Amino acid sequence: MDTDVIVVGAGPAGSTAAREIASRGADVLLLDRAKFPRDKPCGGGVTIRTAGLLPFSLDPVIEATVDTAHLRLRDGKEVTRHHTRPMTYMTQRSRLDHFLVERAEEAGVEFRDGQAVKQVLRHPDGTFEVRHRDGSAHRARVVIGADGANGVVRLNLGYESPVESAVALEGNISFPDGIPERYRSGIALNLSFVPGGYGWVFPKGDHVNVGVGGWKEQVGSNLRRDLDRFCELYGFDTASVTQLRGHHLPLARPGALVAAGGSAVIGDAASFVDPLSGEGIHGAVASGIAVAPAVEDYLAGRVNSLSGYHHLITRELTPNIEASRALMEVFHAAPAPFVWLLQHSNRFWDPAGELVRGELEYSAIVNRFGPLVAASLRPVAKLAQWRTGRRQFAGSMSH
Ligand SMILES: Cc1cc2nc3c(=O)[nH]c(=O)nc-3n(C[C@H](O)[C@H](O)[C@H](O)COP(=O)(O)OP(=O)(O)OC[C@H]3O[C@@H](n4cnc5c(N)ncnc54)[C@H](O)[C@@H]3O)c2cc1C
Repeated sequence: MDTDVIVVGAGPAGSTAAREIASRGADVLLLDRAKFPRDKPCGGGVTIRTAGLLPFSLDPVIEATVDTAHLRLRDGKEVTRHHTRPMTYMTQRSRLDHFLVERAEEAGVEFRDGQAVKQVLRHPDGTFEVRHRDGSAHRARVVIGADGANGVVRLNLGYESPVESAVALEGNISFPDGIPERYRSGIALNLSFVPGGYGWVFPKGDHVNVGVGGWKEQVGSNLRRDLDRFCELYGFDTASVTQLRGHHLPLARPGALVAAGGSAVIGDAASFVDPLSGEGIHGAVASGIAVAPAVEDYLAGRVNSLSGYHHLITRELTPNIEASRALMEVFHAAPAPFVWLLQHSNRFWDPAGELVRGELEYSAIVNRFGPLVAASLRPVAKLAQWRTGRRQFAGSMSH
C-alpha cells in the first residue's frame, strides 16, 4: 500500500479533510490536477460560520471584511443595511485554497499538484487504486472524492449525481486606485435578479467581483446577457469585466449516500451547496472535518466502513440544507415581500446576519417566523420534495 488515504482534489473540502485526517496520525496523499496556486470560478465569500470551523485564522488571505449589504430587488430601490459585527470575509480563491493546502502540509500531508486522476478502482479486498493521466498509479485503503462538481471519484464509484444544478457566471473589475467607498466593507446583493437566483458585487483588495447565478433550467444560456444588464444597473462598464468564468453549483438529494466501504465524497463532489445562498465553501469545510473521525476509526479497524460520516452528515448538515431549500422555494415564489422585509424589518435582517455568522441555523429561522411562515413553508417544501424526487438521478452504488 502506498499510503493510508488518498484525497482527490485540493479545494477547501480536500485540503480540510487531508489536514484533519493527517492530524489524527494517518499518512495522507492529497492530489490535484491543477498547478497551485490555481484559481476557481467563485465569489470567494467565506462566511463567519465557515471561518469559525477552522482551527486557524484566515487573516493572511482576507481581502475585505463585510458588515454592510446594499439590498435591491431587480431594478427597484436599493436599501443599505448594516450589522454591528462582521458577517463575511472576502477572499480570492487562488490565495485561499493555496493557504489551506499549506496548513494541510504543515499537518504532514503530502501534496502533489499537476496530478490529474483519470480513474479510481475498488479492488475486491476493499482497497483503492487511483490511476493518473500520465500512466502512474497509487494505492490506498481509503479514498476521498473532493474533486468538485464533475468529480471522477463520484462517477467511478457510483455515487449519485446532483439532483439539480444552479449555474453562475462571474468576473472581476479592476480598481487600481482603490475600490469605490461603498464596497470597502459592503456587498451589493440584487435578489431575484435572475430567476431563482441573484446578482452580487463582492469587494476584493484592488477589484470587485461581479456575478449572477440562478437555476440552470431557468436561466438557460442568458447569463452573459444578464451579467451585462447587472453591470449596467450598478454603473460598471461591461467592457471592463475580465476573467469571466462560469460554473455549476450542484445540489444534493437529501439523504443521498456519501460513504461506502473505505470511500467517501465531500464538498461539491457530494453536492453540499446551500440552495438559498449558493454558499459551497461551508459545506466543503464542514464535510472535510466530518469525514475525519470515520476515517480514523476505519483505519484502526474499529469499524468496517465510513458510514459514520454518512450518518453525521444526515444528522448535522442535511436538515439545514433541506430547510434552506424550503426557504429558497418560498422566497422565489414571491420575492418582493421578503426583500422588503429584509430591507426594512430588523426581525428579518438580524437573523440573516446571525445565520451567516453561524449563530443561528436555517431550521431555527423557519421556527422563529412562527406559524404563518411555517404553514406557508409546508406545502412549498412538499412541492420541493416532489420536484426533487422527479428530477432525481437513480444512482446505484457499485460498492
Ligand atoms: C460563480 C460561482 C461563485 C461562487 N461563490 C461562492 C462564494 O462566494 N462563497 C461560497 O461559499 N461558495 C461559492 N461558490 C461555491 C464554491 O465555489 C464551491 O462550493 C466550493 O469551491 C466547493 O469546494 P470543493 O473543495 O468541494 O471543490 P472545488 O473547490 O471545486 O475543488 C475541487 C478540486 O478538485 C480538483 N480536481 C477536479 N478533478 C480532478 C481530477 N480528475 N484529478 C485531480 N484533481 C481534480 C480541481 O482542480 C479542484 O482544485 C461559488 C460557485 C460558483 C460557480
